[in-house]
Amino acid sequence: ETSMVVHLRVAPLGDEYILVLADDRTEVSRTEAVRNDFVANVSHELKTPVGAISLLAETIEDAADDPEAVSRFSQRLHKESNRLAALVQDIIELSRVQGKNVVHAGRPVDLNHVIAEAVDRSRLPAEAKNIDLKVGGRLPRRVHGDHDQLTMAFRNLIDNAVRYSPENTRVGVGLSSRDGIAQVTITDQGIGIAPENQERIFERFYRVDAARSRQTGGTGLGLSIVKHVITNHGGEVALWSQPGRGSTFTVRLPELEEGLDDLTGLSSAE
Ligand code: ADP
Repeated sequence: ETSMVVHLRVAPLGDEYILVLADDRTEVSRTEAVRNDFVANVSHELKTPVGAISLLAETIEDAADDPEAVSRFSQRLHKESNRLAALVQDIIELSRVQGKNVVHAGRPVDLNHVIAEAVDRSRLPAEAKNIDLKVGGRLPRRVHGDHDQLTMAFRNLIDNAVRYSPENTRVGVGLSSRDGIAQVTITDQGIGIAPENQERIFERFYRVDAARSRQTGGTGLGLSIVKHVITNHGGEVALWSQPGRGSTFTVRLPELEEGLDDLTGLSSAE
């Protein structure tokens, strides 16, 4: 729902006229509403693991003379505190990248390295599900930006591709460059995303299946972090997906003018 908020200030001007100043506050109130929403969501999301942790701690105390129960509850306690840690981490990351334009403070970044690093992080979980995780292609130019934020964004996308795929499938990361734009595709043969959810999954805390997301260690913030990071770098994220067949996330980022060779001083001078 969109509504317009206008603040009016009326001031007398001479004895015959009054001056009316209209001030469009629509954007301000919308930002405020979004912020309040976020705070409400965060509190809600934090309450679940915090509640579980204190309940488990109590249960462990009560079960002190049953070592087997203690060990079982301790494991769950561990799992819940990991979840809490992941959630806090993502909330911090998201607030860091939200509405910030990192490009001004950026440096040349080699996306080939970024992708290699991000893929490495997903190797173990991929192996555990016998998922064939491969990178193809190479980018000739760097992009301008923040190495760590870009790594975080691609890690989220690759991590999702593995998490939302069944065993014995393939996840491919493709690198290509055209017309000064670097393109990275992350393709999986996973559960896919229905058309009506495709836009919403980029919203904070939106998950198609909250139970599944939680079970696999998701926080519901990954894709909104991705979107903010890529937008901050002057790029865009596109999604193609079909339920039951798989998904492809495509990231496009503007490349720097120089090739990598130029930057290392190996190219011939003009
Ligand atoms: P989460 O931590 O839940 O994975 P994300 O913001 O990364 O949060 O993703 C939001 C939701 O989008 C996920 O809960 C899942 O429903 C859906 N999703 C994301 N990536 C994929 C994918 N590769 N395949 C299928 N569904 C996906």
